[in-house]
Amino acid sequence: MSKLFHSLFKQSVSRLVMGSFVFVLLLPLGFLASSMPEQSWGSVKNEILEKHLLIAKSTGETIRLYFSSYQKSLQVFANTADLTNTKEPEKFKARMANLLKSFENVDVISYLSLDDYSRIVSVRPNAQGTFKKSLDEPFLKYLTFGNRHSSIRDVSPVFKSTISNHPVVLVKTYVYDKHDTKRGILFVEVGLSFINDTCAKIGSGSKEYCSIVDSLGKVVAHPNKQWVDESFDLSMLSIVQKIKRGESGTMDFSSEYLKEEAVAGYTTVGKLGWGVMIFQSKSALDSPLKEVMKTILKWLVFGIGLALFVAYFLTRQITKPISMLVLKSKESGVRSNTFNLGDVPKNTPVEIAQLWIAISSLISRLQRSNNEVKKLNYSLSKEVKIATAKLRETNKHLYKISSRDHLTKIANRRYFEDTVTKVLDLKQGDNASIILIDVDKFKYINDTYGHDAGDLALVHIADLMKKCTRDGDLPARLGGDEFVIYIKNCGPKSLSRVAENLRKAVEDNPIIWSGKEIPLSLSVGTVNHEIDGEITLTQLLKYADEAMYVSKENGRNKVSAYEFVADNPETKSVNLDAFDSVDKVMFEPAGEVVMDIMDEKTNEPENEDMDKLVNEEDSLPTV
Ligand code: GH3
Ligand code: MG
Repeated sequence: MSKLFHSLFKQSVSRLVMGSFVFVLLLPLGFLASSMPEQSWGSVKNEILEKHLLIAKSTGETIRLYFSSYQKSLQVFANTADLTNTKEPEKFKARMANLLKSFENVDVISYLSLDDYSRIVSVRPNAQGTFKKSLDEPFLKYLTFGNRHSSIRDVSPVFKSTISNHPVVLVKTYVYDKHDTKRGILFVEVGLSFINDTCAKIGSGSKEYCSIVDSLGKVVAHPNKQWVDESFDLSMLSIVQKIKRGESGTMDFSSEYLKEEAVAGYTTVGKLGWGVMIFQSKSALDSPLKEVMKTILKWLVFGIGLALFVAYFLTRQITKPISMLVLKSKESGVRSNTFNLGDVPKNTPVEIAQLWIAISSLISRLQRSNNEVKKLNYSLSKEVKIATAKLRETNKHLYKISSRDHLTKIANRRYFEDTVTKVLDLKQGDNASIILIDVDKFKYINDTYGHDAGDLALVHIADLMKKCTRDGDLPARLGGDEFVIYIKNCGPKSLSRVAENLRKAVEDNPIIWSGKEIPLSLSVGTVNHEIDGEITLTQLLKYADEAMYVSKENGRNKVSAYEFVADNPETKSVNLDAFDSVDKVMFEPAGEVVMDIMDEKTNEPENEDMDKLVNEEDSLPTV
């Protein structure tokens, strides 16, 4: 059930609105169409049945009055004419013939003397021709009826007249003498044409008709003439049995005559014991209802059509601006800054117009926020740039501090070791050349001229180291009065020349302190070895230090080279005289080492700009 609801409400707005409209419009229409005709027709039907009963009753009253009028006429006749005087029969007969003329539907008037049971009969002249049987017949009828139905004998049941050969009834009245003694009975044979005419006027005879039965349940009046002529016996019918029990009312009835279901209003006619029934076929009764239903159906179809049209129109009114809103909102994503929803479309429902305005203002607020964010981003990126630049400066400074000797401004031990270790890792096949330097009798300078003079000497030597080496070489201070130079890619001879050149430069360039020359000298040791993947910096420094120590041993202010003997690499020999004749050392052309290492950057801080730092004018060589 909930799934149904979910799927129902996932439909598009247009479907939902259309559906709702049709539902809302159809519900009352359907209710009206189904219940109203039933209800209203139920009450109409009851009213019709009541009318049928009323007509039956009034028809019964008419019949009663009809027969009573005959009785009264007979009584008037009996009172005015001295009928007890039977001595003048001709005169009596003439009076009866006159009376006969004044009656309608009567062909025979008879008198029965209760004194001697003599009979006088007057027959309407034009009915004479049909006279066939004994005139005793009416009296016999009377006697028959009188014996069997003493209480209702003023009007007899229907029988076929022996004179007219038509169904008739007998109406009688007693004749009294002056002493109120019954002396005779007057009879009239009343034809049934009046009753039939009266009955025929009620209803069409086909779908609605009137039927009258006598006290025995035989047909007196009916649209079926044959039944009337034969005085057809209907006493077996339930409705007739109700009449015979003296009941009145309405009931459903299966009509033999109509051959369909019918409803009937029925009543018993007082003392006569007759019954009047007004029938109506149910189909005829229901046909107006069907007509009404047809009309309602037409209106229903029209209503549905109208509902659909109205629903479609209203749905469009609702969904069109929503669709536009969706479309425009999508467009806003494409050109976010210049986008504008524009004015609310005409005839837009209030809520959607409010939504439109709200979204429009939301978009412009978003645009404003977006612009502010952009501005913020811009200023932020500017600040970030400045901060980054400052950071770079700081890094640069830190890098300088961490990689340089604070006094001489050349590379410190750490930088030297890192750089050369890297070279030894990467430049296999090249030559690694180290010049190790220790200032001679430096303590003496300190002690004699002061620490500042010592410092000046250290700075001076460092300057000379830089001057005596190539840009790609790496001079560094190892600590105290000890220095080192990594000479890239050069042979043992060139290395010795560089070392000698430096030694000579220091020897030739004393420092001036307090106007006084202070001579300086260096003890230098060199080592040259192919980078074979096994030789380490520690080893190289050790070998160079050994060579330098030889220089010290040999009287200082010397250059000594560490040499490897093929059979025993551990053995060293130092050629003390190798450089005596060398005045000036010429460098071999620089190789590609520096640039290669620069590219590798492996020995530098993890700062992408560090290569720039080290390449700057006062940056350290990277070898
Ligand atoms: P040798 O010829 O045997 O090397 O004799 P030496 O006097 O130079 O002996 P050594 O190398 O052991 O002495 C080094 C001296 O350098 C000791 C120390 O006082 C001095 N020294 C170390 N660092 C500095 C510095 O930064 N500035 C100054 N002025 N002196 C320093
Ligand atoms: Mg020294």
